Amino acid sequence: MMSIAENIDLVKLNLPVHVQLVAVSKTKPAELILEAYQNGQRIFGENKVQEMVWKYEELPKDIEWHLIGHLQTNKVKYIAPFVHLIQGVDTFRLLKAIDAEATKRNRIIPCLLQFHIAEEETKFGFSLDEALEMIVSDEFRNLRNVRISGVMGMATFTDDENRIRKEFAHLKAIFDKLKSEYFAQVGDFKEISMGMSGDYLIAVEKGSTMVRIGSTIFGERNYP
Ligand SMILES: *Cc1c(COP(=O)(O)O)cnc(C)c1O
Repeated sequence: MMSIAENIDLVKLNLPVHVQLVAVSKTKPAELILEAYQNGQRIFGENKVQEMVWKYEELPKDIEWHLIGHLQTNKVKYIAPFVHLIQGVDTFRLLKAIDAEATKRNRIIPCLLQFHIAEEETKFGFSLDEALEMIVSDEFRNLRNVRISGVMGMATFTDDENRIRKEFAHLKAIFDKLKSEYFAQVGDFKEISMGMSGDYLIAVEKGSTMVRIGSTIFGERNYP
């Protein structure tokens, strides 16, 4: 069996230098995260608020914590003091809650807008129309303590590579449209977070700037 450090190095060999690696450490203990940290990894992704909070408290403070899962508005306050990027902003209500908590802490919290690109109903995310309705509103323009840094999406869980390719191309098209029509002057709007263990090579081919990889680095999880 290969070590976590070797797994990270292998993934990195497949990534162009401009693509950031988020090591998805959900369900994994602090020792394994430290092993990745000692190999130079600094960006980690978690999908549960409580788990991210205890890991933040226990682990080195220069780790950049990304919240990658569905986030409930009433839990934003627990991560607002330290979260580096909230990847799964899927409603205007959530974005406003993040802005309010960030304001209380005198921070600007970077966020990605999550889009629903998969076939599965269960996945979260905006449709393009919903996002546009939000983006053109005065209320959106008046948010001061969130920074929209790009988009995020998850492809359908399938062996059908053409389907995955199409879904990632769709997210890239959404990004390009938003960038050219609404965020052309916003330098921070530059990330396309797409690609997981099973599909990150396709995601990179389709223009990903950030991949979120868990099981390929840390081994299979016992629960999702
Ligand atoms: C768990 C998870 C990942 C990582 O999945 P792997 O298949 O283990 O690489 C990526 N993104 C999100 C949103 C996740 O919940």
